[in-house]
Amino acid sequence: MNKKILIIGGVAGGATTAARLRRLDEFSEIILVEKGEFISFANCGLPYHIGGIIEDRDSLIVESVDNMTSKFNIDIRVFSEVTEIDPEAKNVTVKNLITNETYKETYDKIVISTGSLPVKPRIPGIEEAKNLFTLRNIPDMDNIIEFINTEKPRNAIVIGGGFIGIEMMENLVHLGMSVTLIEMAPQVMGMFDSEMSEMIHQIITDQGVQLILNDGVSEFKQQGNEIVLKSGAVVKADLIIFAIGVRPDNALAKTANLDLTDKGAIKVDNHMKTSNPDIYAIGDVVEVMHSVSNESMMAALAGPANRQGRIAANNICGIEDIYTGTLATSVAKVFNQVVGSTGLSEKHLKRLGYEFDSIYIHPNSHASYYPGYSPVSLKVLYNPNTEEIYGAQAIGSDGVDKRIDVLSMAIYSKTKVTDLKNIDFAYAPPFSSAKDPINMVGYVAENKIKGISTSINVKQFVEILDERTYILDIREHKELTPLFDNRIKESKHIPLSELRNRLNELPRNQKIYVYCQLGTRGYLAERILKQHGFDAVNIEGGYKSFLYQKK
Ligand code: FAD
Repeated sequence: MNKKILIIGGVAGGATTAARLRRLDEFSEIILVEKGEFISFANCGLPYHIGGIIEDRDSLIVESVDNMTSKFNIDIRVFSEVTEIDPEAKNVTVKNLITNETYKETYDKIVISTGSLPVKPRIPGIEEAKNLFTLRNIPDMDNIIEFINTEKPRNAIVIGGGFIGIEMMENLVHLGMSVTLIEMAPQVMGMFDSEMSEMIHQIITDQGVQLILNDGVSEFKQQGNEIVLKSGAVVKADLIIFAIGVRPDNALAKTANLDLTDKGAIKVDNHMKTSNPDIYAIGDVVEVMHSVSNESMMAALAGPANRQGRIAANNICGIEDIYTGTLATSVAKVFNQVVGSTGLSEKHLKRLGYEFDSIYIHPNSHASYYPGYSPVSLKVLYNPNTEEIYGAQAIGSDGVDKRIDVLSMAIYSKTKVTDLKNIDFAYAPPFSSAKDPINMVGYVAENKIKGISTSINVKQFVEILDERTYILDIREHKELTPLFDNRIKESKHIPLSELRNRLNELPRNQKIYVYCQLGTRGYLAERILKQHGFDAVNIEGGYKSFLYQKK
């Protein structure tokens, strides 16, 4: 039977739903209502057009209203806001934002894809700040570009170190501005563990950005030209990008009395159906299940919104489809580096009380004899008993997205951590090594799980470290600075090449914590020591991981 399906919100989730619905059902009436001017635009590209990296503004519009109408025979109404849903009468109120007229529209099924709104708390002076912008859509982007072109700001302050803040920071630096990034937490990008985020901090400050952590805004003064921080510090600002997070745009859901979570997101089942059987909801406005922890969470990401749109359309058309959950897999460019993560972090696992172990490695992105290789710092978390992979984080200039995607796939398909050694990867010197970093994770996990190697991660090491800890640095002489200040304090130094001949210098009644620069030679030293009867433990990721943990 032909239906009348109303989609509210016409961008990531909404446009996908509309297209899928039409492909499945040529005859139903499909109405797409969008309060803005554009449908199907690339929010993710907005920071890069501001920075001039994406030059052509039109390329951000993935599908125009005319194209979508003719291709899919959809009734698209832009500049139209749905202001109320009446589930009893099965109609919605639509306001034409150009004429200010309102009218009712009936429906058989609704899909809500209204997205999220930037969080903007009532900080004193925020409304008066003339140079303060949030970034969600094309008009926001246009406003920022116009301000930059007319006011020529030199001093930009980005408030919030999440994805949008980080991307804006980079693009403003690209435009030649002096940029300060202010983040209230002790680290940027909360999905990373502290020692990984220290690497991100280094990337940021290396580019001349002033990074202020553990501090938030208490007041905007002089129409935003002065920001007073909670610490009392005052920073000057020509331009402010305010990006402290998003919240679900749930105003409509409230009018329909839909069940909401405590964070205000719409509750949905795994068919993307809300508490009302004729209303579906998708994208940033809903909470979904985390695939590892089964916790309900917001995953404000484009991939989940698109997949959920397809699932809602399938279910509306009688093709049963379920959303299996999210790993919140994400990647971002931070200047010349790439940072990516999937699944749960160590701090999240600790909060949940999960038993876990971790692996840190810093292999090269591809064979070191082929030009252009660079290290990938990779952390993988897993259950040492069941070998279930819980999560992964990676940082490097090349090959990060590939490794994070493989690990996301491994978590999804319940591949055991030791099975990673068995996977055939495409290899030629410009792309990888015969032992891909993902294979290396499998090797290290096998060594740990079978007791061939005993290792400790830097977080745990720092916790147990005291003046009695016996630490052995096995790096070669040429790796140490003349002042010996690039070492873990008080460590004994015996280069690996001399180790077998100097075993008599080492204690037999004490644990020996061994480290090299990246963790690989530390493992070799640990194996040598173990086979000579010493109680040796390798410090995972070596001095590089220690350095970032310590900061
Ligand atoms: P949206 O795509 O935001 O669409 C919601 C639409 O609903 C809006 O156009 C809004 O006008 C409309 N609407 C709201 N209320 C009504 C109403 N009452 N009536 C009619 N229309 C209404 N994700 C990634 O995975 N990777 C990235 O790199 C990335 N970068 C991003 C960069 C920026 C600057 C931004 C803002 C987001 C980024 N995201 C990224 C997030 C991603 O864009 C969102 O997760 C995704 O767009 C959510 O899709 P959605 O359909 O839920 O909402």
